[in-house]
Amino acid sequence: MKTAIVVGSGAAGATVARELQGKCEVTVLEAGSAFRPFVGNLTLFGKLKQTGLLFDERMIRLIFPVMQIRRAADRMILVNGIGQGGTTTICAGNAVRKDEELQAIGINLDVEFQELYQEIPVYTQHQNKWHDRTKQVFDICRDLNLEPMPTPKMAYAQRCSGCGKCVLGCPRGAKWDARRFLQEAIGKGAQLVSQCKVEKVVIENGRATGVEATSARRTRFYSADITILAAGGLGTPVILQNSGIECNANLFVDPVLCVAARIPDSQQDREIPMPFIVQGENFILSPYFDFLSFFFNKHWKCPPSGIYSLMIKLADSNCGSISRRGVKKSLTDQDQVTLKEGVALCTEIFRRLGIGSDALFRGTLNAGHPGGMLPLTEREALTFHSARLPPNLYVSDATLLPRSLGNPPIFTIAAMAKRIGKLCLQYV
Ligand SMILES: Cc1cc2nc3c(=O)[nH]c(=O)nc-3n(C[C@H](O)[C@H](O)[C@H](O)COP(=O)(O)OP(=O)(O)OC[C@H]3O[C@@H](n4cnc5c(N)ncnc54)[C@H](O)[C@@H]3O)c2cc1C
Repeated sequence: MKTAIVVGSGAAGATVARELQGKCEVTVLEAGSAFRPFVGNLTLFGKLKQTGLLFDERMIRLIFPVMQIRRAADRMILVNGIGQGGTTTICAGNAVRKDEELQAIGINLDVEFQELYQEIPVYTQHQNKWHDRTKQVFDICRDLNLEPMPTPKMAYAQRCSGCGKCVLGCPRGAKWDARRFLQEAIGKGAQLVSQCKVEKVVIENGRATGVEATSARRTRFYSADITILAAGGLGTPVILQNSGIECNANLFVDPVLCVAARIPDSQQDREIPMPFIVQGENFILSPYFDFLSFFFNKHWKCPPSGIYSLMIKLADSNCGSISRRGVKKSLTDQDQVTLKEGVALCTEIFRRLGIGSDALFRGTLNAGHPGGMLPLTEREALTFHSARLPPNLYVSDATLLPRSLGNPPIFTIAAMAKRIGKLCLQYV
């Protein structure tokens, strides 16, 4: 049987490994290790912050090792998950189909989305878990004709207590994450090698022969008939460039800014995150307690239960890049304009809640949906394979997206990965 290496075990890697295992022998190489949810006490961390000891977001790894933080320009921090299941373990559980940009270049993923809806539990009937303040904000958004919609959540509804800890790792195993697909692939015989960081793809005579990876400071070569890169929008471009394959400086990240107010006893930290979404022109708006800002931003002073926050998530311009030397990404003038529109809308919503603009404070600009550096075009609509790659090397993650979705991307990434799992077999 042919062999395949899948690099990364997040939304894309776990999906493609599950598709391929059985049709070929799959080895998943994963830089991180097993995922553990955050178990600390938030109020204690609030107090620790007041001592001034928690001053840099990168320190989050001391208390929550899965969360990797990088700094970009405009004081923006980039967040991703390193470990089994990738960033899906720290996601908010939103299951959104958003593939208009792919359809526009001739890609139809209907079959793959249908399969995903059979395989992943998705529900929207969670209004009974919303707190009164959120119900009020929903009504305000409706009155403003913003057409708020309850967010589809990937979760086992009966097990979800609505505790609000999705992004810190679901403590009850209610949220679906990519570890489920990974376990299914392993159940069918796939091998998983953890704490194994792939540095580059080895290419000989125009074909990929395997990858070079480091584990416990030792470098090893893993050979395979086919290699699939799924190390995420920040990981895959670095591996490609290390392998001599050029990427486009088209990095998008979906920057997030939260606008918050002190509202005693709103308990948003204990409520389902992003319970509904308002779709704006180039941004979405959603209620969201921003734990990163709570941990590290000096403006977030009150106890967690006394903060209510609205998230603005931009579909940012696709210009930026990452390489071994670091990340280059800043907000363009257009991004700043869109962000301002989002802030104005949040301000109006808070005004209708009886809170004036001088009582509002902002969170830390952060971003967690990177991609775009080897974007699909009409030319690759059928093959999902760039001419820059050897025939037996595929990319299957958000790196392929033509532009920012400005929306939760897991479902769309998983649908693409499913297609690639089917397609790549034909080319070995
Ligand atoms: C806080 C937060 C909340 C989010 N919430 C949602 C949500 O509710 N819904 C949604 O749709 N999206 C959400 N997202 C975004 C979503 O999680 C990611 O876009 C998605 O997981 C990306 O999938 P991926 O497979 O491309 O990358 P990832 O899921 O990040 O997986 C990449 C994997 O590759 C591994 N890796 C990286 N480099 C290497 C290497 N060199 N060698 C080996 N392995 C490597 C990583 O450890 C990781 O396991 C959220 C993101 C964040 C940060």
